[in-house]
Amino acid sequence: MARRRQIYEGKAKVLFEGPEPGTLVAHFKDDATAFNNQKRGTITGKGVLNNRISEFLMLKLHDIGIPTHFIRRLNMREQLIREVEVIPVEVVVRNVAAGSMSQRLGVPEGTQLPRSIVEYYYKNDELGDPMVCEEHITAFGWASPQDIDDFLAMTLRINDFLTGVFMGIGIKLIDFKLEYGRIYDENGDVRVVLADEISPDNCRLWDLATGEKMDKDRFRRDLGQVEEAYQEVARRLGILPEGATLETIAREEEDGEKG
Ligand code: C5P
Repeated sequence: MARRRQIYEGKAKVLFEGPEPGTLVAHFKDDATAFNNQKRGTITGKGVLNNRISEFLMLKLHDIGIPTHFIRRLNMREQLIREVEVIPVEVVVRNVAAGSMSQRLGVPEGTQLPRSIVEYYYKNDELGDPMVCEEHITAFGWASPQDIDDFLAMTLRINDFLTGVFMGIGIKLIDFKLEYGRIYDENGDVRVVLADEISPDNCRLWDLATGEKMDKDRFRRDLGQVEEAYQEVARRLGILPEGATLETIAREEEDGEKG
């Protein structure tokens, strides 16, 4: 296979030039980082699982009318996506207090919030992704008031929908982070679409019955059983068939690619 041109390497993904103009190939790595790169490690099989979990959730969101950058999954670790103009804002939605909100405001982890809270962070590693408000976003031109209207409406809809999807498989959606981008059509009209990924890397997922953490906090906080937690999320979503393991999936995909 011809060597592809690498466009960008992030913490969890590498982006390559896609087969057609306006497309990219996202390659999901097993690398894990936390606390703005201060903690680094590997979660074996994470890339394979996140590629599948994100595919599954992006397709579901597409079905309810959320425009996304996702086109199709290509293989175990790669998906074809639309190239977007990145909006440098991380949109975090919280249903239950946890993580940085609990630390910052002294609200105990696990406190149910009276309503969903949306926060914005400026996507900038050097600055450690500082929290910002709408005023910063529009004043510095990171997004227009119309962009914000669009992604806020989508975010609330996604939160309602995903809360239900996860509730249905015995998982509480505590909080998660979304990223958005702009796509221009041939008339120059612009549309805001959901980008990046949705996976246990950027969601907090707690088992409904036991409260056990099933997300990247297992890595961040050295709780162990990290791979198992990601696999369990995939299994409950019906992506990992009963009894399947990462090894059996790998074998199937290899056979499929050969055949
Ligand atoms: O750390 P914090 O509590 O602010 O994280 C809120 C949510 O956003 C968590 O689900 C976390 O996984 C996600 N997040 C992320 N990428 C970041 C910061 C937070 O995916 N850079």
